[in-house]
Amino acid sequence: MAAHGTKPGRKESERGRYVAQYIQGAGLRLDIPGKEDGFACKCGQKHGIYIRPTYDGSGHVQYCLCQKCVVKNALATKSYITVTNVNAAADPDLPSHLFPGSGSDGAAFKVTSGEIPNRELMYDLLYDNIVDCNLNQYDENAGVGYFTIIDGDAPPSGTVIPLVGKI
Ligand SMILES: [Zn+2]
Repeated sequence: MAAHGTKPGRKESERGRYVAQYIQGAGLRLDIPGKEDGFACKCGQKHGIYIRPTYDGSGHVQYCLCQKCVVKNALATKSYITVTNVNAAADPDLPSHLFPGSGSDGAAFKVTSGEIPNRELMYDLLYDNIVDCNLNQYDENAGVGYFTIIDGDAPPSGTVIPLVGKI
């Protein structure tokens, strides 16, 4: 990794490109500056916070990121996947440990940008980036697969999810 204080140049512009792609791909919006009840990034930063609205369109906040963490995530993003199809859970009221498969949303996805990870890496990336996500099927040549969210809702069709690798 480049040290701090690197002179602006080609690397700097590439960095800008990655960051712009990440902000757009993740659907991040800059929080309104000076708002009383601002949000905080998980690192504690409260200023210049980007928010990701929930996927359901309710306008609630799914997660927050400060500008520093946005840059970190952008540089560590391996790939972007897009949800192509969602199968709603059979019966969301049934606990899945008693009735395997019920209560869990499934979603088909494909890699739409970046590298196509192998199966092992894709499993880890999904697990690290989507809460309670389990990879069920994956074709590592085509970059298409299917995951389930244990006892939860899958992001709707068309959602782009950046897969941030270990930083
Ligand atoms: Zn942060």
